[in-house]
Amino acid sequence: MVSRVIPVDPFDLVIFGATGDLARRKILPGLYRRMCAGQMPQNARIIGAARSKLTDKGFRDMVREALETFIGKDALDKDVTKTFLGQLHYQHVDASGEEGWADLRTRLDEQPDHIRAFYLSVAPFLFGEIAGRLSSTGIATSTSRIVVEKPLGHDLASAQALNAQLSQCFDESQVYRIDHYLGKETVQNLMAVRFANALFEPLWNARHVDHIQITVSESLGVGGRGAYYDKSGAMRDMVQNHLMQLLCLTAMEPPAQYSADYVRDEKLKVIRSLEPVKPADTVRGQYRATATEPDYCTDAENPDSTTESYVALKVHVANWRWNGTPFYLRTGKKLRGRMSEIAVVFKEPPHSLFPTLPSHATNSLIIRLQPDEGITLRMTIKEPGPGGMRLVDVPLDMSFADALGPQSEGMPDAYERLIMDVIRGDQTLFMRGDEVEAAWAWTDPIIAEWAERARKPQPYDAGGSGPEDALALLHRDGRRWREISV
Ligand code: NAP
Repeated sequence: MVSRVIPVDPFDLVIFGATGDLARRKILPGLYRRMCAGQMPQNARIIGAARSKLTDKGFRDMVREALETFIGKDALDKDVTKTFLGQLHYQHVDASGEEGWADLRTRLDEQPDHIRAFYLSVAPFLFGEIAGRLSSTGIATSTSRIVVEKPLGHDLASAQALNAQLSQCFDESQVYRIDHYLGKETVQNLMAVRFANALFEPLWNARHVDHIQITVSESLGVGGRGAYYDKSGAMRDMVQNHLMQLLCLTAMEPPAQYSADYVRDEKLKVIRSLEPVKPADTVRGQYRATATEPDYCTDAENPDSTTESYVALKVHVANWRWNGTPFYLRTGKKLRGRMSEIAVVFKEPPHSLFPTLPSHATNSLIIRLQPDEGITLRMTIKEPGPGGMRLVDVPLDMSFADALGPQSEGMPDAYERLIMDVIRGDQTLFMRGDEVEAAWAWTDPIIAEWAERARKPQPYDAGGSGPEDALALLHRDGRRWREISV
């Protein structure tokens, strides 16, 4: 199978913060890969913008180095790299000052027919200022797009303030709030599995599903960005956005159409259906030191930190479809392995015909986001051979890499796909302002209750499965977490 690439219209993409980590590590390598795939129009321009005083050549040299670091010197195609670098430009702009804006406008006006997109890969306190300047200088037109990165606020009030700033200058249809989890192939496949197959949807409800587990586990700690992380913690950094999005896509009703507002309306309904979480259904953890590596507080450069590097929650979606089926969410750093998955665990058969049914032999559908994106259906079958009806639990495994062969190698990563969606004007995989606010409205009371209790999070061993209380959260319901794979 050959990967099908749909060309996009000519565009100018201005990356504010083009000299920063995110641009060098993800955005620019992603754009290079889209060029390799043949999706970048020849006259598209990528204009880096930041305070550093670089020439076009200086910027191209910087990007070449970034491509060599993050894609690999040997993996770069010489001709494509040359063409790609040729389409890069640089404009020195101070987001908080006057410098550079008039020149940026002159550059963009050279190609008035191009789609204009502005990617704000800068600290969030600059979002409002940049949006305001783009609008007041006339650089942004009524068809321009603006892309903003997380964090989209740190609570409901700050998210509302950010949305208000953006909406003063841009219509909601022009705003693209990135949650890169939504750009992952498997996340979109979750919708395909649910809504393009007649098999699962009739079973996708509280009558047939015992519970759902959503896990995003990381093996690394916060070292390097500890001081930043310490201000947010796992709840703000992961649950409010990534896990919430996975929960929405798993729990939502089928939208009437696969289009941005239809999908986002259904996700919003899920968030609004979430019951407030009881304090007893929340667990916070902080990783301990190992023989060779420091503990969380040392990494965070804050010896008294009460910030969590782990969260587990038991969540109820209070609607007809899910009444009585809990969703268990967990995420943490320095765990046994790097793994993201959604596991839909079905109920046991109503009547046990076989006394030898293995324990925990319920069907489950596991949607793996990483590593090795794919889908597994766990089934109970007869163990081969004579000696009666012995049953065994086996996986029916579909790794995308195996199922799709070479086509999967060309699969765009989340950033590549999302940037091209911005150019196409497709907001389906981006969060709408009201979704972000609803997510904070649900998360804020949990965080407030933790702050009120002022308890230190429970310590857990680095390389383990998380704190004891997280195991107990499921044990007390007669369930257990799936193993975190190494
Ligand atoms: P960074 O490495 O600190 O880069 C910040 C960029 O902003 C630099 O290019 C800097 O260049 C530019 N900048 C700073 N002040 C400016 C101003 N007044 N006017 C114009 N440009 C200015 O940050 P980052 O890690 O790339 O992160 C960027 C954004 O993405 C942040 O909001 C972050 O939270 C978010 N994010 C990052 C990651 C990641 O993996 N890095 C992941 C998710 C979200 P000059 O100093 O030359 O101006």
